[in-house]
Amino acid sequence: MEEVDITIIGAGVIGLAVSYVLSNFGKEIVVLEKNPSFGQETSSRNSEVIHAGIYYPKGSLKSETCIRGKSLLYGLCSRYNIPYRKLGKLIIAYDREGIDRLGGIYDNAVGCGIGDLRFLSRKEIKTLEPDIEAESAIFTPDTGIVDTHSLMKFFFQASKERNVDFAFSVEVIGIKKERSFYEITVNEPGGDSFSFQSRAVINCAGLESDKIAEFAGMDPEKLCYRIHYCKGQYFRMRNPDKFRIKHLVYPPPTEIDLGIHLTPDLGGGIRLGPDAKYVKEINYDIEEKEKYAFLSSVSKFLPSLEKDDLIPDTAGVRPKLQSEEDGFRDFVIQDEGKNGFPNFVDLIGIESPGLTSCLAIAETVKKFIESA
Ligand SMILES: Cc1cc2nc3c(=O)[nH]c(=O)nc-3n(C[C@H](O)[C@H](O)[C@H](O)COP(=O)(O)OP(=O)(O)OC[C@H]3O[C@@H](n4cnc5c(N)ncnc54)[C@H](O)[C@@H]3O)c2cc1C
Repeated sequence: MEEVDITIIGAGVIGLAVSYVLSNFGKEIVVLEKNPSFGQETSSRNSEVIHAGIYYPKGSLKSETCIRGKSLLYGLCSRYNIPYRKLGKLIIAYDREGIDRLGGIYDNAVGCGIGDLRFLSRKEIKTLEPDIEAESAIFTPDTGIVDTHSLMKFFFQASKERNVDFAFSVEVIGIKKERSFYEITVNEPGGDSFSFQSRAVINCAGLESDKIAEFAGMDPEKLCYRIHYCKGQYFRMRNPDKFRIKHLVYPPPTEIDLGIHLTPDLGGGIRLGPDAKYVKEINYDIEEKEKYAFLSSVSKFLPSLEKDDLIPDTAGVRPKLQSEEDGFRDFVIQDEGKNGFPNFVDLIGIESPGLTSCLAIAETVKKFIESA
């Protein structure tokens, strides 16, 4: 039976960042991806925002990997000419409740060590964003946007140059724990199955990461690893030049998402979204009628928005550990040795800010592998 040192399951931005960071390491690495190419699921269906890390509870993995990941990502993008822009972001409040919530967001961010935030008055908001109606806002200069496809392509090519093997259209269908390795069974493009041995496994399977842990013999219910799908739809401005939007503009976040926001993109367009709806099945259809909910939500702070300004764009599905009833759930970035699965690393529930955090998550994985 063939043998490799490390198998990475999933070639989204997380699997790719992990492969890039580990490829310096002199190990034989294979990346398995069920789609015909990299980054065809959540990693290409998001807002492409490099988050500053202001929302997440102090000390959480989301907070720590976002703040570290943001610096690593800006550094990588500028070193390797990966398109990005540090636009800055306004979190705005247009009513009493929102104004009260801005205070809590500010205090949390300062507690997390983010020092470059400032409050804006109504007049200052108008100077920065004349079309936005808001009473108060927090301005964070450190938020930006990145071309996610170029980022993933960079990780992919750099990993290949350092001899990482990529196997596309290859789906993992079974994992058996043996004494000193894992036997991994895959479905190959022709439909045949094939098994090989791997000394370490890194589960970067996004929306299916709970199932991969289950294949290996872990109990997702007991470990609280079950993924809940939470769909987010986007609309796009038909005529972006109608609006003078220069920054990212967000309402205060809800319990489950960051609120429908305005994101200028690198091509000069403006996207609105995502919304958030828990769903049972994964599908990426956009419901045209949802534009009325978008209109109602966004026109509260962009009053010149009209229904004919909106055209359907894309949708993504968040791999959430938090069910509709739960409160905050953190990323799982776990060396499963303590659960009886040595050399098996689980990355589960990597929703937002996973893109921002990708290099910091990869650094953590590297530490697990080095100390194994
Ligand atoms: C609507 C939305 C907006 C977001 N906005 C932002 C944002 O602005 N900023 C930010 O930082 N983060 C954002 N995120 C989060 C970010 O997109 C994710 O954290 C990140 O893309 C997760 O990457 P991943 O590699 O874990 O998952 P994926 O990209 O889903 O990759 C997992 C891969 O595993 C493969 N796979 C699964 N099962 C198997 C199997 N059995 N065998 C082989 N391959 C398998 C899949 O095909 C897939 O390619 C957003 C997410 C959503 C949904």
